[in-house]
Amino acid sequence: MTDPGSIDEIVPWLQEAIAHFYPNSEYAASLDPEVEERAVHRLFLTPKTGASAICPHCGAPHAVPCLDELIALVCPQCGQPVKVEAPKVKQAAYWPSARTALPTDIGS
Ligand SMILES: [Zn+2]
Repeated sequence: MTDPGSIDEIVPWLQEAIAHFYPNSEYAASLDPEVEERAVHRLFLTPKTGASAICPHCGAPHAVPCLDELIALVCPQCGQPVKVEAPKVKQAAYWPSARTALPTDIGS
């Protein structure tokens, strides 16, 4: 994202979001049919948090807004390779459901 957006860009997005998530609302009914049409086909994604890491060699912070996860990087500050540990909270959130989805009787 290059620009946070002006009010002229936010209002149409907000109208489409309301028409998308609350199609039977009074407000959605008052909108232009064109807005409703766009709202049906628009994908609404959760905002990306972006990945970040701090170089253990020189302490330089690195942010990668276009990626959700960062595995490794070469520090542009000191040139050292940096392996990034996955955040523990994220692993804990993902793994229990993956484990329960596995059959427990493999090999028996
Ligand atoms: Zn560094």
